[in-house]
Amino acid sequence: MHSLQAKIAFAYLSLAALVVGLSAVALIELSRIEGKVREGGKVAELFDATLEMRRFEKNYFLYGQTTDLEDHARFVARAQELSRRDTAVIDALAGQGTAARLERELADYARAMAALVNRPADESLAITVRAHGNRIVTLGESLALNERRSVDQALQNHQRNFLFFLGAVAAFLVLTGFLLARLVTRPLKAMETHMEAVASGQLTRLAPDSSDREFVSLTEAFNHVLDELERRQHTLVRSEKLASLGTLLSGVAHELNNPLSNISSSAQILKENQGVDADFRAQLIEDIDAETLRARGIVRALLDYSGDRDFRPIRVEIAELVEETLRFIKNKRPPGVELNIDIPAGLVVAADRPRLQQVLINLVVNAYDAMNDPKSGRTGELRIAACQVKTGEKDDDFPSPLGGCRSGGEAVEIEVSDTGPGIPSEILERVFDPFFTTKAIGHGSGLGLFIAYEIVEKHGGCMVADNRADGGARFRIRLPACLKESA
Ligand code: ADP
Repeated sequence: MHSLQAKIAFAYLSLAALVVGLSAVALIELSRIEGKVREGGKVAELFDATLEMRRFEKNYFLYGQTTDLEDHARFVARAQELSRRDTAVIDALAGQGTAARLERELADYARAMAALVNRPADESLAITVRAHGNRIVTLGESLALNERRSVDQALQNHQRNFLFFLGAVAAFLVLTGFLLARLVTRPLKAMETHMEAVASGQLTRLAPDSSDREFVSLTEAFNHVLDELERRQHTLVRSEKLASLGTLLSGVAHELNNPLSNISSSAQILKENQGVDADFRAQLIEDIDAETLRARGIVRALLDYSGDRDFRPIRVEIAELVEETLRFIKNKRPPGVELNIDIPAGLVVAADRPRLQQVLINLVVNAYDAMNDPKSGRTGELRIAACQVKTGEKDDDFPSPLGGCRSGGEAVEIEVSDTGPGIPSEILERVFDPFFTTKAIGHGSGLGLFIAYEIVEKHGGCMVADNRADGGARFRIRLPACLKESA
């Protein structure tokens, strides 16, 4: 039975069968009690006949009237007739052979009475008649008593059985209710926990916690939604990457212009002045070579950036990476924004260069966007600083040491801050959430900081956002510092 509907139907039918079965038993019992009450009526009839018979016997003894004698005979005959008719009832109530004994007594009683009529003065006959009459009434009495007891007993049994019946139905109801609730709530609880995990960003597929058809199809539908979500997220991540790539591309194209025009002018001089002296000629050729190498470096940076590559950490000098990144995206810098770079030479981390560059591009472009308000005519400042720190020191204000920011570790801290409006405190917690953006539709995907955070975490580092004392936004990244010998 692999369906919740079938299980509920089964529980319902079982309950109905139990109620019908127990009601049938109760009906049978009631009809047995009815039979006993009917038997009671028969016994009462017999008992009444014996009492009447004795009443006319007494009347005859007192007044000697023939009408009493006739009535007496009539009731004796009636008692005999009833005794014969209800032999089975009498035997069942007072034991096998009681009806036959009663009939014998009645016959003896009738004979004694007849003898007394012929010899009214015979006192011994009168005593015999009374003795027989007494025994017959006592027997009738005991029959009536037994009958009452048997009805009482049957009623008590019925009452007890009825209570048992109610208890059984109540227990069945409680048990099936509990089982059904477990059957439904356990997989639902598991789903709820899983959905909470999904809501917190883990796109892990749901394994059905129940083999019931409804839960299986719900799980399948849920997993389908997850797959679709994953696919869309993937597409969006790609489009975010392409957006960064576009930014980089225009910078690189710009950058390539310089070495290319240098190469071109050196080549031009060489071509037009065949007779230049050897030193100048060598200088020009060296310039062409140096500029070609520079152009090759730029193209390689671009190639590195594109495509889904493996995570490849190498020694990266922060000052050099920042300088190159700013150069690549210098055409994004809004007019009036100053750069303030404070990075000592020799600060090195082990990083996947293009990915770390992607993080920097995102932070710098966000800062430029925040300060890009041509109407206000305001000037701004982008500050990028870096230094080596020991995490968890007494005056370390970096929140919650995590990953590579664990207490005691040597780290390189990179700080990117601006003089824009800052990040309102109510959204500060959410800026790293996927798809969180305050930018207009078409201007932001809300994935930049999310991906930057993931990249930093992948490097064993951590990243936080807050605001500068004077209001602008501040992002700080910590990456495990690279030891001299690791390359
Ligand atoms: P996007 O830039 O596509 O909106 P991000 O993940 O890069 O996505 O940024 C998320 C949000 O964080 C931005 O929409 C913005 O509200 C806020 N934010 C990021 N950088 C800054 C900054 N330098 N100043 C103010 N707000 C910022």
